[in-house]
Amino acid sequence: MADKEGLIIVFTGDGKGKTTAALGIALRALGRRQRTAIFQFMKGRERSGEQMLDKDTIPLIEVHAFGAGFLREGDDPAPHRKAAEKGWRAVEEELSSGSADIVVLDEISHAVNHGLIPAGQIVRSLSSRRAGLHVVLTGRNMPPDLIDIADTITDMKEVRHAYRSGKGAVLGIDY
Ligand code: ATP
Ligand code: MG
Repeated sequence: MADKEGLIIVFTGDGKGKTTAALGIALRALGRRQRTAIFQFMKGRERSGEQMLDKDTIPLIEVHAFGAGFLREGDDPAPHRKAAEKGWRAVEEELSSGSADIVVLDEISHAVNHGLIPAGQIVRSLSSRRAGLHVVLTGRNMPPDLIDIADTITDMKEVRHAYRSGKGAVLGIDY
């Protein structure tokens, strides 16, 4: 059972800033020489700048991406399920016997909402995680079961996004 110091933090909502808030925590923790393990679901490799962080330069932040590209309606879910299950096995290992101080499960809501990982399994694994381990969950439409177990929940609200004026995703800012 996690002790009192191990928090569960949720960044959800439709506005920009969920993943980058988690990265901000990793950066803050780095200043404290704490280790952060980031697991990204539903994302291919090298889609985003954080996946290119150099382990030699920043050995205390590790980023693992598990995804099989975009999952659209009508697609065969098998490769996506396989990628998510592989990711989840890596997460379970980190939760039970890893060395991270903070674990980030990025876009975990989508993995649950697409039926790739059962919410109940996540809740069970988190409740038996190493004592003191903090966990950050990000993604839109966070399932109620994961909201229920969180200590801190922030709902990012879109007021405006540059996407809407057709500016497209900006390197370094958005990916
Ligand atoms: P970020 O990674 O920038 O913190 P996020 O994690 O909050 O964003 P996601 O839903 O994961 O948001 O979206 C990932 C990408 O979509 C990012 O490039 C982000 O800028 C962009 N994005 C975020 N919010 C919106 C929005 N409301 N409309 C369009 N695009 C968005
Ligand atoms: Mg995100």
